[in-house]
Amino acid sequence: MTLAIDGGTPLRSRPFTPWPPKPTAEQRSALLDVLDSGAWGSTAGTRVQDFAAQFAERHEARYGIPVSNGTLGLLAALRAVGVRRDDEVIIPPFTFVATASSVLLAGAVPVFADVDPETMMLDPEAVAACVTDRTKAVVPVHLAGGAADIDAIRAAIPDRVRIVEDAAQAHGAALRGRTIGAIGDIGSFSFQSSKNMTAGEGGMLVTNDEDCYRAAWSAANVGRAPGGGWYEHPAVGWNLRLTEFQAALLTDQLGRLDELNARRDHGARVLAKRLADEVEGIRVLLDPDGTTTHARHLALLRFDPAAFGGVDKGRLAALAGAEGIPLSSGYPLLHKDAAIRAEAARIVDTECPVAESAGPLTVWLPQTVLLSAEEDLADVVAVFVKIQRALT
Ligand SMILES: *Cc1c(COP(=O)(O)O)cnc(C)c1O
Repeated sequence: MTLAIDGGTPLRSRPFTPWPPKPTAEQRSALLDVLDSGAWGSTAGTRVQDFAAQFAERHEARYGIPVSNGTLGLLAALRAVGVRRDDEVIIPPFTFVATASSVLLAGAVPVFADVDPETMMLDPEAVAACVTDRTKAVVPVHLAGGAADIDAIRAAIPDRVRIVEDAAQAHGAALRGRTIGAIGDIGSFSFQSSKNMTAGEGGMLVTNDEDCYRAAWSAANVGRAPGGGWYEHPAVGWNLRLTEFQAALLTDQLGRLDELNARRDHGARVLAKRLADEVEGIRVLLDPDGTTTHARHLALLRFDPAAFGGVDKGRLAALAGAEGIPLSSGYPLLHKDAAIRAEAARIVDTECPVAESAGPLTVWLPQTVLLSAEEDLADVVAVFVKIQRALT
């Protein structure tokens, strides 16, 4: 069979499940209510505030702070735990660029700690080895919707070092039965278009710590204090607010989060089993240690180039893409990124050998595939078989 990239017929031409899902009647009427009310911003309406309370409760947190997106949410969270110019913040090298760019925006220095090869998330021992007197915070990323092991990271670092969870991909995920987000000091979620809950853009911080709440709220509300005066700005902050339109779209999604997480999880398990049974040299990195609920934003796949004629991940993604499968070649590693190094006030060089060996062998499928029916997942498996036969 000629590969589609060489002019053959693509194995699949139908799209996978669209995202975001079809709007509900509740979303439509809530949006129109906001429109007609004239209370479009959260300083005029109550929907954002109500949604923040519900979102925080779902994430076992006392406080929810709405923000305009996940990148600026991380900035506000870093500021809230006291990160300032020249402080060091430990992050993984295999993550979306915003985990690093938010650290730079705070004027701080990103320090990259190596990852665990089976999860691509921070390795607690590597984190411990990166701690210095200038370390202010660690940002574990709940990658792909799995739970980073906050317990193990907490145990590996001094008490004075704070934990900011990057939960942009992990709405509703749980670590040893506890919902992630506010297990550390504060956590940041995203509602950007691709994420498991979305309003096109948007974000939310959650925390159980009152001081963190007050500082993060202030950072997102032009330096005001909660309950303080309109033109009183005891701290420096920015306008990072969410709109009432966004809350109108998100409130109803919170009610469907568990159902969609379960559907994505089922899809990931079916795919993992079929790949294990039917294709050599590619597998799903399924269940990180300690993850008791997985949000399945992505299905991380580990492949052996030798089983696919020596291709690199970019070529594998292009081959699968031509066959109609939205396989992503995934993140480039950030620890040697030229733009990040040019922006950093100071460079702290660290070794990340695991990320360097495992990163190029890690690709992923998006949630649109995981939400699809079993016959759609069968096409994914068939495409890997087709590519493998053509190349070996
Ligand atoms: C999406 C994402 C962000 C940034 O969120 P935005 O809302 O797009 O700014 C940060 N970190 C991770 C891991 C993400 O996936």
